[in-house]
Amino acid sequence: MSGPRSAVVFDADETLVDLRPAVTGALAAVLEEMRRWNPAAGVSLADLEADWGAVFGALSAAPVQEIRRAALARSLARAGLDAHLDEFAALFFARRFALTRPFPDALPALAALRPRHLLGFATNGNSRAERCGLAGEFAFELYAHENGLPKKPAAEFYAAVLAAAGLPAEHVVYVGDSPEHDVRAAQRAGLRAIWLNRGRLPRPPGLAPDAEVSTLAELPDALARLEPAKA
Ligand SMILES: [Mg+2]
Repeated sequence: MSGPRSAVVFDADETLVDLRPAVTGALAAVLEEMRRWNPAAGVSLADLEADWGAVFGALSAAPVQEIRRAALARSLARAGLDAHLDEFAALFFARRFALTRPFPDALPALAALRPRHLLGFATNGNSRAERCGLAGEFAFELYAHENGLPKKPAAEFYAAVLAAAGLPAEHVVYVGDSPEHDVRAAQRAGLRAIWLNRGRLPRPPGLAPDAEVSTLAELPDALARLEPAKA
């Protein structure tokens, strides 16, 4: 008797989790509250989005919550509301999680794969499975910055994925939307990688995923077509 001899491990944001509408909705709530506190502040949604972009590069290795707080601090300074960061951050995260949903193809794909594969969830972000409509779906969950886990594309991230799966690298497939973090970094660590290309974008030069899908519904067939892992 033994468990599954293969694991399929998922990125969270923009792979299983439809993050963008949740973030946009949360920023809209922040903006509405900023305007209530300071009707004279000429701040726009585009300003709030630009503030995220402005801080992300410098803080990319930091926890997502810290990056978001830094972005919000920058936005609040535009309206003289710097002293209220804690309240606005609480509002942002409450709305962001309340609005976060899995993509419609996520739960059916997980159900289809579960009989044959160990399923894992491993993310750089703060999309906790149970707060994003994915409670109880995975045999294991890994979050960067918990227990010192560095973010993708660090090799240590994928080493932790393999340790959690309890399988050799060639029996583990990582599925994600990021060519750098989810495909190249996973392959460097010896895993196989499936690129989820929802936008049907041109493949970046040199990217060689083990398979490419445009929806999660294609995953069972894509996994079945992968070369059998060497014993
Ligand atoms: Mg992603």
